[in-house]
Amino acid sequence: MNALLSVDAALSQILTNFQQLGAEQVSLEEAYQRILAEDVISTIALPPFANSSMDGFAVQAADTQTAPRSLHVIGDIPAGTSPQFVVRQGEAARIMTGAPMPAGADAVVPVEATNQNFRQTGDHELPETIEVRQAVKPGDYVRPVGEDVQIGQRVLLAGSSIQPAEIGLMAMLGVSRVPVVRQPRVAILSTGDELIAPDQPLTPGKIRDANGYVLAALVRQNGGIPLRFPPAKDSIEAVRARFEEALAEKPDLILSSAGVSVGVFDVVRTVIEEIGHIDLWRINIRPGKPLAFGQVGGVPFFGLPGNPVSAMVTFEVFVRPTLLKLGNRIDDAPIIQAYLEKPIHSDGRRTYARVKLRRDAGSGRWIASETGTQSSGALSSMVLADGLLTIPEGLTGNSPEALYSVRLLRPVTQGLS
Ligand code: AMP
Ligand code: MG
Repeated sequence: MNALLSVDAALSQILTNFQQLGAEQVSLEEAYQRILAEDVISTIALPPFANSSMDGFAVQAADTQTAPRSLHVIGDIPAGTSPQFVVRQGEAARIMTGAPMPAGADAVVPVEATNQNFRQTGDHELPETIEVRQAVKPGDYVRPVGEDVQIGQRVLLAGSSIQPAEIGLMAMLGVSRVPVVRQPRVAILSTGDELIAPDQPLTPGKIRDANGYVLAALVRQNGGIPLRFPPAKDSIEAVRARFEEALAEKPDLILSSAGVSVGVFDVVRTVIEEIGHIDLWRINIRPGKPLAFGQVGGVPFFGLPGNPVSAMVTFEVFVRPTLLKLGNRIDDAPIIQAYLEKPIHSDGRRTYARVKLRRDAGSGRWIASETGTQSSGALSSMVLADGLLTIPEGLTGNSPEALYSVRLLRPVTQGLS
């Protein structure tokens, strides 16, 4: 028997075939969760003008040192206007939050710290005078120019993930077209005479295509754009036609599931060898030993196992890092260290076990236990799993005192037990 290739060796060999995709421009609305392709350097200051942080009166702070002090109100500055007057000694201008400071004034007295004297009772026009009850210092309640961002400041770095705050900052800076890393477009092919669409009635011998949908969701989860094709029959003509349809979409990557093992009807290999080349690897991993990698019509290709759990695990281990590299995304999936509730069987291959996690109330330790049947066709075990626990290659027995890494697949909802 040939030696099995290690997971790490296979992955690093695969990744040498990929580099970060180029950039494209999208609107601000489309930029959420995309990866910034260039630094953003501000061409303006924020705020662009000194403005009031309160509704109140713009004054010369020196006038308020002898509070209570009466000041003559000379004008009104609603937000969105630009005052043309100068506030002199003994004067005040009514100002709204966010409105520009008038020349001459160096502080704002909040409206709560004043009494307003109107020309007549019940008058809601501008007060004639105010009485300032409280002293302010120069700069009080004033947001200076550039307090937030200076002209020429590098405010966002290439490679950042664009979140709501980044979108807001770009909006304020007038960046309405955002340079982002292109999303990988991934063609997804399922093969098998037994496969029917989820909306079709089950007939004897048939099962519904899960992998097409699972892989499309996984592609989306990792920043890609899935292009899902209906299942192809197990004939060379049908599989070839499906690959040609996929190639016509000019994808960055093609994923197929099933049909790469040694089954009599496994025709994917035959087709790929006609229109591309393929390396079929036996990898030291469980589940998911056979993995095909190669090129079809110049497009990189992964042939994943047919069993849905094996397809998911090999996606997580090999395809996900590929998509992250193409999209320049960092791997932010949390990894925690857990103890085993009960020993987990391993045959010495690197094993990815589907586990549920609980936190032991006494010790605070994370405890992992396998979810249901670990059959590589049983998707319910993935639904129940909080994460994938790695048992390193070469270990067959496992000790209750050893810690194992668990890659979380979802937020752990269960509390202390
Ligand atoms: P194969 O690699 O073709 O021998 O398939 C291995 C197993 O995976 C078989 O039990 C298939 O029925 C199953 N399988 C293959 N493709 C899919 C799919 N798209 N959805 C669900 N199960 C599948
Ligand atoms: Mg098959």
